[in-house]
Amino acid sequence: MIIFNEIKLLFMMVALLLTNCGMAQDSRPNILVVLCDDLGYNDVGFNGSKDIKTPELDKLAHGGTIFTSAYVAHPFCGPSRSAILTGRYPHFTGTAYNLFQNSSEEDEDNMGVPIEETFMSKILQEAGYYTSAVGKWHLGAAPKFHPNKRGFDNFYGFLGGGHDYFPEKYRKVYQEQVNAGNKNIRDYLLPLEHNGKPAEESEYLTDAFSREAIRDIKTATENKKPFFVYLAYNAPHVPLQAKSEDLKKFENIKDTDRRTYAAMVYAVDRGVGQIVKTLKETNQYENTLIVFMSDNGGNTDHGADNYPLKGTKGDTWEGGYRVPMFFHWPKKIKGSQFFDFPVSALDLYPTFVQLAKTKVSNDKKLDGKDIMAGVLAGTDSYKNQMIYSLRYREGYSDVGGRQGDWKITRMANEPWGLFNIKEDIGEKKNLSGKFPERLEKMVSETEKWTKDFVRPLWYYSVKDQEYWNDGRMPRYEETFEISKLVTHPNKN
Ligand code: CA
Repeated sequence: MIIFNEIKLLFMMVALLLTNCGMAQDSRPNILVVLCDDLGYNDVGFNGSKDIKTPELDKLAHGGTIFTSAYVAHPFCGPSRSAILTGRYPHFTGTAYNLFQNSSEEDEDNMGVPIEETFMSKILQEAGYYTSAVGKWHLGAAPKFHPNKRGFDNFYGFLGGGHDYFPEKYRKVYQEQVNAGNKNIRDYLLPLEHNGKPAEESEYLTDAFSREAIRDIKTATENKKPFFVYLAYNAPHVPLQAKSEDLKKFENIKDTDRRTYAAMVYAVDRGVGQIVKTLKETNQYENTLIVFMSDNGGNTDHGADNYPLKGTKGDTWEGGYRVPMFFHWPKKIKGSQFFDFPVSALDLYPTFVQLAKTKVSNDKKLDGKDIMAGVLAGTDSYKNQMIYSLRYREGYSDVGGRQGDWKITRMANEPWGLFNIKEDIGEKKNLSGKFPERLEKMVSETEKWTKDFVRPLWYYSVKDQEYWNDGRMPRYEETFEISKLVTHPNKN
């Protein structure tokens, strides 16, 4: 009996020693989110681009699962990012307009995703992850909204909605404006920052952000912590500025915007290649989930291509918010998989929480789902539930809703359209006249979804604000009125 107790004690001591020395393996995966800005559906090799080369991304995509029906929660930048990090549609958090640079500090102090909304980074940080945000923020520029206050141990990048790419060029313009006494210098020209302090950057921005993500991977490895790196490249968002070495790869593209855009995407691809190399060198490759996606559809006025999807950034046609996306995780996800069921960027939050073996507080609302089991099994996590997008325009709303193989779309204050999106990915054949009951059901479901929308915390303009004077979405009833619409002349 004495011997048994001694052996038991010995085992306990060894277990304790291993834990304290950090030798006990943390089996939780690292999570690397690579978010592009305004990257079109057809602007990566793995989605069929004929002119843009993305060999590194293609290798990862084909080594994992490619999502052909991945949606973001909103068809442009700020609200889409708000949704990713809060796990909530931006209409429920007052963040459905883009943040713009404001000259008044008082206004700016109120412009940001409310601090009551817990970001996924905070949950992962509290669960023991090393957390870092690199690149574009666009979720509030005032100190209280800073990434370091939202669960990121580290932040390197810029706080606004976009940035010029060549430091030696934008620094010069910035300095000229400082010298001229300009108090409201455009945020695209401001110096980058590292944890609240100005950073001396000299590299092309995409290269700088890849370098910083590599540094994060090394830091986390040295500290023996799993990592969550949110790498939000501003590429290929305007201004279209590319390195000459990347442009040389695309001399065959005649359109100069498209050529520059292609070179900018290629710079992301080069960076991802370097990051993968680092993951392998640090022995983190096998157990890192890489999520690649765009924050919204491509801007077809500035070099992007959303083929075969209809529409552009900002639309609730598929081209506005259906994005290129893949998961790569050698330890769990086998390669060469296509996942055609719809998924949402809102799913990342609950999926990551589960992967980190942690949970959210009981009062935290999440609009997405943990999709990992469905992805691994090749099954639909949404079944008949709808995935939405809604954009406030001037006095009306564009709306999109996907349910299984079907999609409803309301654009430009025109009547609702109904599409079999599986057969008609380009939203060409409006079936609203043929299946009025289906249309009615989906529109009514969408109306229910909007019941808890809150008044936006900021607007683009005074005029936008006036449309909300009665506290409700502009033309609320009219938005969901369909009785007269099924006989619209455009019906098929
Ligand atoms: Ca964007």
